[in-house]
Amino acid sequence: MTPEVVVVGSLNMDLRLTVDRLPRSGETVSATGLARSPGGKGANQAVAAARLGRRVAMVGAVGDDDDGRAIRRRLAVEGLVLDGLATADRPTGVAVVLWEQPESTIVIEPGANAVVDEAFVTERADLVRDAAAVLCQCETPLGALRAVAATATGTTVLNPAPAVPLPADVRAAFRVLVPNRFELATLVGASTEPADEDEVLAMVRALDHPGDVVVTLGADGALVVPAGGAPVTVPAERVDAVDTTAAGDSFCAALADGLLHGGDLVESARWAAHVAASTTTRHGAVDSLPRATDLAPEGT
Ligand code: ATP
Repeated sequence: MTPEVVVVGSLNMDLRLTVDRLPRSGETVSATGLARSPGGKGANQAVAAARLGRRVAMVGAVGDDDDGRAIRRRLAVEGLVLDGLATADRPTGVAVVLWEQPESTIVIEPGANAVVDEAFVTERADLVRDAAAVLCQCETPLGALRAVAATATGTTVLNPAPAVPLPADVRAAFRVLVPNRFELATLVGASTEPADEDEVLAMVRALDHPGDVVVTLGADGALVVPAGGAPVTVPAERVDAVDTTAAGDSFCAALADGLLHGGDLVESARWAAHVAASTTTRHGAVDSLPRATDLAPEGT
């Protein structure tokens, strides 16, 4: 069966250290907890879509090491198609996550993710071409985005995270952009985040994206700006959020899921906010992503 969703992106082993406070430069602090689990924006988005019931293929790379084998095993358990997952001659990517509730400060060593360039994705063009939706982020080389733009025929969703200035021709090739406030500011070359929704909208207009833009606003929800249409605010659902890690990733996966179900952009963003809110009620990255059975009906 052809995968409906293809995720082209990163896979990391997350080393998550819980800290009471972040160390200052030159200082050492003791962690109060350590957890090791698969993560990376690509892997998070792929698992998120699979847990929503989609058949998902992951295009990316891990190393020939224990972390790579652990990630592979976990993705297989999640039911992902792994034909597009390579074992590279570099160590598996690692993210050191300093978790100071409710947010994380993260340092990434890309490792094997660095081989996921234009040629790598082009070699896997069949997977990308046949997918109904292709999800990308920016933890792999820019060339991966160029290859997706040249190949994909389905709905393309770009989560421009972590924040990087992207060439206009690359981002313009994606149907839907899903930045957070900081990523949006980076895309338009602004030095500060937009302070309110008017500023968010002004930056979206400055972006002049030919497709749709959905700006995620954390606990404030999302601003949905359909191509050529009026902006709509989608509020965040009220939940007892304990950890916002992977909220953005689950939002992107659920947005694609909603669009594949035939929903319009606003309906799909409401579904995405519902799924992302659930993600914030559990700890971790992949571990926090909801299954269909975890989700109460929307609006309850
Ligand atoms: P991350 O990088 O941690 O995945 P992000 O910065 O990309 O996150 P956010 O804008 O923080 O993404 O969150 C994505 C979506 O998750 C929001 O648009 C919102 O719908 C939901 N969300 C985030 N925080 C909360 C919260 N405290 N309560 C309810 N929903 C939330």
